[in-house]
Amino acid sequence: MSVSVVLFTSDLRLHDHPPLHAALASADEVLPLFVLDEGIEDAGFGVPNRRAFLADCLRDLDAGLRDRGGRLVIRSGEPAEEVCRIVTETGARDVHVAAGVSAHAQRREERLRTALGSQGCRLHVHDAVITAVAPGAVIPSGGGKDHFAVFTPYFRRWSGAQVRSPFGAPRTVRVPEGPASAAVPSRAGLPGVSAGLAEGGESEGRKRFAGWRRHGLGRYETRHDDLAGDGTSRLSPHLHFGTLSPTELVHRARAAGGPGADAFVRQLCWRDFHHQVLAARPSAARTDYRSQHDRWRTERSAADEITAWQEGRTGYPVVDAAMRQLRHEGWMHNRGRLLTASFLVKTLYVDWRIGARHFLDLLVDGDIANNQLNWQWMAGTGTDSRPNRVLNPVLQAKRYDPDGAYVRRWLPELAGLDGGAVHEPWKLRAAERARYDYPEPVVGLAEGLARFKDARGIDQGL
Ligand code: FAD
Repeated sequence: MSVSVVLFTSDLRLHDHPPLHAALASADEVLPLFVLDEGIEDAGFGVPNRRAFLADCLRDLDAGLRDRGGRLVIRSGEPAEEVCRIVTETGARDVHVAAGVSAHAQRREERLRTALGSQGCRLHVHDAVITAVAPGAVIPSGGGKDHFAVFTPYFRRWSGAQVRSPFGAPRTVRVPEGPASAAVPSRAGLPGVSAGLAEGGESEGRKRFAGWRRHGLGRYETRHDDLAGDGTSRLSPHLHFGTLSPTELVHRARAAGGPGADAFVRQLCWRDFHHQVLAARPSAARTDYRSQHDRWRTERSAADEITAWQEGRTGYPVVDAAMRQLRHEGWMHNRGRLLTASFLVKTLYVDWRIGARHFLDLLVDGDIANNQLNWQWMAGTGTDSRPNRVLNPVLQAKRYDPDGAYVRRWLPELAGLDGGAVHEPWKLRAAERARYDYPEPVVGLAEGLARFKDARGIDQGL
């Protein structure tokens, strides 16, 4: 009787799961394993919103396996040690896992390889599970480069790359008897979880995608930047935890066709783009991808401004609305992420790592590749070809929230202001202004811009 272990990581699904598919095709029994990784908790990445969403995902994965005659075994500790323990308990000869991209995932893979090698057990690492196109599968022609540093040429090559056909979910999973499992965690009673946090799990992810494909995808191209319209898919947490397969989404969106589907597939490509950058440069999670020799302001020099930004009290309504959405939902609209990040790094000239850390503390989709590299993009230290671009929060607000509905939704203290006037409360007459419990801007935009230009040594207009 042959036994294989499947180690689930950021791929908490049964549909389109190459490691599970390969294990079921080659062994009599398969043990699905998830290890609550103490290293992630110790590094401060096990924050309440993601722990709650993860609990939903594990519960749903266990239920899906039970429907198929199996179950999920959950352990906690150091993944390589726990996998080795399970291998000893089951006599497994093969372990299957998805390739990861972060430094942490790469180290986990190395430890697994060494530990399993000494037990005479084979490790099978499967590509293109966490991304649609594996990091390194497309690289710039001409040699010498191991990844693309610019999105547009990457997108061109990615669009022509082979994306394997998705696998269906297995009908049955035969699991060896014996190995004990820790209880499946639950989000109930977890402190610090955002009140409006979305529900996790593959069933929920598939339901959300099905609904969005019918009602949102076709209009995505024209609505994705409309802050109040909320016309994006909100699939990012499901992609982060792997309850949806990016490969399957690419296939199904391409099959639907049209400008909305094309625009959506392009965003999925952005995700793969950042993953291939991080896989090649894991240090970009902490250090500038391209150094601009910035002398950023920090907690020491800009403490009050950082707190105002985190609490959504900068005095710029659209920035504050987005920061309050982040706290309430553990999620923020992409346009909000762009303009709040620009405000912190370019207007307040605060170190991008401080903003990235705050996002990671709250975002349910908080992801090392997408978060750190989008922050670097906005800070001008990453892959943006216009590193000095500054987003003006007032112009952004007028363009992407023209009648102010998004701001009124998140800033109840300004709900009495009609239309676009909500974006510039400082223009109200003093007597009227006093009726609203809302702060003055923490910094004037001209002052912020001058500080940024001065620090970057820019002497003309941007
Ligand atoms: P949709 O617009 O429906 O897009 C579909 C999917 O494409 C998303 O779910 C996401 O997986 C991917 N995608 C879209 N835009 C991007 C992008 N710019 N970069 C990479 N992938 C993208 N995304 C995360 O998943 N995790 C993060 O931690 C994260 N941090 C960010 C920080 C900053 C400062 C910025 C500017 C962006 C960040 N993003 C992050 C990217 C993007 O904002 C979110 O993926 C998107 O808002 C999620 O909403 P959605 O699922 O409705 O996206």
